Amino acid sequence: MAYDVVVIGSGPGGYSAAVRAGQYGLKTALIEKQPRLGGTCLLVGCIPTKSLLHTADVWDQFKHSEEQGIQCKDPQLNYPAAVGRKDKIVTKHSKGIEFLMRKNKVDVIRGYARLLGGGRIEVEGEQGKQIVETRNVILATGSEARMLPGLEPDPNLILTNIEILNLTAVPKTLGIVGAGAVGVEFASMFNRFGSKVTVLEMLPRAVPVEDEEVSKELEKYFKKTGIRVETGAKVESVRRNTASVSLTATLSNGNKEELEFEKLLIAVGRKPNTENLGLEKTRVELDRGFVKVDGQQRTAEPGVYAIGDIVAGTPQLAHVATAEGMIAVGHMAGKPRPPINRNRIPGATYTEPGIGSVGLTEAQARAQGLQVKIDKVPVVGDSKPTSLGMHEGFVKVVSDEKFGEILGVHIIGPQGFELISEAVLAMEAEATVDTLVNTIHAHPTLYEAVGEAFNAVNGLAINI
Ligand SMILES: Cc1cc2nc3c(=O)[nH]c(=O)nc-3n(C[C@H](O)[C@H](O)[C@H](O)COP(=O)(O)OP(=O)(O)OC[C@H]3O[C@@H](n4cnc5c(N)ncnc54)[C@H](O)[C@@H]3O)c2cc1C
Repeated sequence: MAYDVVVIGSGPGGYSAAVRAGQYGLKTALIEKQPRLGGTCLLVGCIPTKSLLHTADVWDQFKHSEEQGIQCKDPQLNYPAAVGRKDKIVTKHSKGIEFLMRKNKVDVIRGYARLLGGGRIEVEGEQGKQIVETRNVILATGSEARMLPGLEPDPNLILTNIEILNLTAVPKTLGIVGAGAVGVEFASMFNRFGSKVTVLEMLPRAVPVEDEEVSKELEKYFKKTGIRVETGAKVESVRRNTASVSLTATLSNGNKEELEFEKLLIAVGRKPNTENLGLEKTRVELDRGFVKVDGQQRTAEPGVYAIGDIVAGTPQLAHVATAEGMIAVGHMAGKPRPPINRNRIPGATYTEPGIGSVGLTEAQARAQGLQVKIDKVPVVGDSKPTSLGMHEGFVKVVSDEKFGEILGVHIIGPQGFELISEAVLAMEAEATVDTLVNTIHAHPTLYEAVGEAFNAVNGLAINI
């Protein structure tokens, strides 16, 4: 039986695209090699980390309960129970995706998919090989953790996002190589669970895709809360001992240091799953392993689309994968959508304090030669963060000096990853600084800080 569309991979890109194809009445199949649906994001990424980060937030509250007038005698962290809670959340949502497939009449085919060319796909599963025929294919095969050269992960000492999420106890010491979103989220989590955390980053700053001032603020807070952050640090060698890992690094001051950790997390980026996919039998073009697509997510092979972490030129984020899936299905169903606008993709990093950003950083705007106005308000002026006992951070607005166009908004502070949504919508609606100044922000809220930052653009902030 021939399908209208076959989606390979059930991550946020693939499963959402399959649902949308079903909603449009396309005959759809979803192929997944793992026993459970959900991909990196649900099984070993966004959702398990956010569930454990929530436990870290709650645990933090218990540790500081006396400040709130609550006596909590000898609170205990039951880490295996926290991991059990995380696993239940993942299982619930994976079953939810199975339900969505049935609801939208999507056939789920278990096995490893390879393109054979000409709309034929070989699926190798437990029952052997089968051939599936289709008019369109969406490649949504995602990514996996990159390792340092010569290193292999293992469940005990050298970990990726997969192994670290399966630990049954909090390590006394944790080394993290890489201070991108994944590295800093695990640093924030395990520091609060009680590990002594050291983060080593080769680039000059943590969260290097964020605005420089955001990086500085996060590093400052991390150091204040006991996380050692070494930027500009090069890992020279890693050695497994019986029950620990030794690492030699050259630090930014040129000194070599040997460090020892109970566990070492490698978080140095993710490589696209485009090998062994049969792409050589097609005209699909790659750029350093990533698939090249046009604005409708089409590859160079007619009828083959690509979305999510394997795509060249868009950030590896779950919501980007989903949005690209909607564009691909929209195109094949004759319901086109505008292409992804890189400047309107929210970034969200779930550390404490949280980070949310959209659009150009100050440095990017200046590098483009734009006449920019930069304004920044600390969240400390607002009463809601104080009530919550969280006063770190700021909201920074990058705007066009002449016309008040919003070029970028960068937030670090309590719930910064939630607060950014107002700025994303404002930019999507092409609102100006004045629109945000005239928007009434409820009081007391965390998002008042966003309104205040836009007041500051005109030099008229009230509370600072
Ligand atoms: C620790 C961590 C935390 C993260 N947190 C966030 C976050 O908070 N927010 C956010 O936006 N992003 C986050 N991400 C990134 C996010 O997980 C990815 O951007 C997202 O999962 C990409 O979705 P995808 O659909 O492209 O691929 P994936 O989710 O990687 O799914 C790909 C699927 O394809 C399957 N597959 C691969 N090859 C084949 C084949 N040949 N045949 C059959 N099936 C195949 C895989 O088994 C997998 O299930 C995080 C990532 C990590 C590692």
